[in-house]
Amino acid sequence: MNAMGEVTLVGGGPGDLDLMTVGGMKALRAADVVLYDRLAPHEQLGELAPDAILIDVGKRPGHHAVEQREIERMLVEHARTGSRVVRLKGGDSYVLGRGGEEVAAARAAGVPVRVIPGVTSATSVPAAAGIPLTHRGMSHLFTVVSGHAPLTDDELLHLAGLGGTIVVLMGVGTLPSLVAGLARHGMAATTPVAAVERGFTDGQRTTVSDLHGIVTAAGVAGVTSPAVIVIGEVVRLAADGDDAAARQLARAQEFAGP
Ligand code: SAH
Repeated sequence: MNAMGEVTLVGGGPGDLDLMTVGGMKALRAADVVLYDRLAPHEQLGELAPDAILIDVGKRPGHHAVEQREIERMLVEHARTGSRVVRLKGGDSYVLGRGGEEVAAARAAGVPVRVIPGVTSATSVPAAAGIPLTHRGMSHLFTVVSGHAPLTDDELLHLAGLGGTIVVLMGVGTLPSLVAGLARHGMAATTPVAAVERGFTDGQRTTVSDLHGIVTAAGVAGVTSPAVIVIGEVVRLAADGDDAAARQLARAQEFAGP
């Protein structure tokens, strides 16, 4: 039997290779097998992981993603035959990335596992649009939430009352219920909101409005996933550094009225 291999979870960052860590690059270079997602930077994997078998486990049009349990089974199986296995994910593996489940599966199977953190889209995609998540005197906290499933009333209540900045991943589909819920629990209709699509690609686009207008603005613009949604006063700062966003914000304010 071969010696035991290992599993390395690599957070690949938000899509731009410049934002992958040196540690992540090293792990890829040494890999025998790479299992990657659609949102991970994978276009140059042939060069980054020259000796590896590359396995796409993400969702592609017309294909289902490989089930999470099946991914865990594949990680363990390859490592047990002595391979150095890299699990390459978008952003950071521990931010809405199911990294914890894969680490647990490897540990349960007695496979050595380590995690190389990545640059999460939660902070970097807003930054690409000129939005700092904290800003002195404006916001001293941010909360990252999954929009995969609608939030409960209790969650909405606390979120609306927290102040600071709210960052939503996987939130395009549930945006109407989120916005309605926050408004119902007292968040001001004039709170600025931005949707930043396809961060760090040629197709990056920012749609800016406010709590009252964002669902209409997103509908008109045809906002689609992947997008990071930012809610809070800091969205106004995007307008300082981004002319297109400034114009959109001005239009949104006209639309919202006094
Ligand atoms: N672990 C990842 C998040 C996985 S959830 C991380 O830390 O970034 C997937 C969601 O991330 C998408 O629905 C979208 O909300 C966001 N996302 C990831 N990459 C993105 C990008 N380049 N541009 C916009 N949103 C992105």
